[in-house]
Amino acid sequence: QVPTDFYLIERDDVKAALRPHNPFINKYDNGTVFLVAGSYGMMGAAVLAARGATRAGAGLVTVHAPRCGFVPLSTAVPEVLFEADRNEIFTTNIDLYHKYSVVALGPGMGTSDETVDAVDTFLKSYRQPCILDADALNCIAKRPILLRSIPKGSILTPHEAEFDRLFDLHRTDEERLKKAIDVSKLYEVTIVLKGHYTMTVRPDGKVYINSSGNAGMATAGSGDCLTGVIAAFIAQGYAPDWGVVLAVYVHGLAGDIAVEEQGTHGLIAPDIANSVGRAIHSLV
Ligand code: AMP
Ligand code: MG
Repeated sequence: QVPTDFYLIERDDVKAALRPHNPFINKYDNGTVFLVAGSYGMMGAAVLAARGATRAGAGLVTVHAPRCGFVPLSTAVPEVLFEADRNEIFTTNIDLYHKYSVVALGPGMGTSDETVDAVDTFLKSYRQPCILDADALNCIAKRPILLRSIPKGSILTPHEAEFDRLFDLHRTDEERLKKAIDVSKLYEVTIVLKGHYTMTVRPDGKVYINSSGNAGMATAGSGDCLTGVIAAFIAQGYAPDWGVVLAVYVHGLAGDIAVEEQGTHGLIAPDIANSVGRAIHSLV
């Protein structure tokens, strides 16, 4: 039994860990992100994840989405590439035609049977750590045997309801945290339990408690943005199980910067995504 250690992550910890840019880098040095996100009616989730990734410094972001997503995505986030699924309204084929630094799945994907099949095929063929959020987790919850196919070292970013859909209902935060510590070790994955104090639970028994963020972030799309930020940090070469801790802090700090202008009532997810650059800028 590995003992559990708790750490509070504060500004100075992140400041010490972030690297400034080498003046001679090119975009490929900053890594490539492949994001599977969006479906008919939920393209905003893909937009926010993509913008989170580009603002966090990913060199090149490709979004794989159903064909209906082409116009909204490339209009809202012109800096990303679009890869069309064979289907018009939801994702049915997650084939990797290129090598990417990191792959993230989930925001706004939906959970139609064809999408569950696509996630199933992907998890059984992809062996690198990946990021699984939102509907990727909901697809797995619809076919729980897939938990065993998640690549070791992957990062799961459930909010409470998504966690409980995957790992049964929990009455208290404490019960949920205990379960997260167990399943993190069992499946060898990092679990980001999102909430006011987001807890990053790692299979090595370390739990990182985040100190940034505010109640204004309890708004649709906030978590989709986080998925993009985590992907960008890993793409840029931070070790996945530490990069995710930094990304969670930066995402919360972006929310703290944005809330200065909008207040907790007015804050919307695009404000968070567009403040990620300023958050990192204040730390490096
Ligand atoms: P999601 O539910 O997937 O959109 O994720 C919500 C995001 O907003 C996560 O990063 C949470 O940590 C953050 N969040 C939600 N509610 C709060 C809150 N009350 N205080 C701070 N952060 C929050
Ligand atoms: Mg979410």
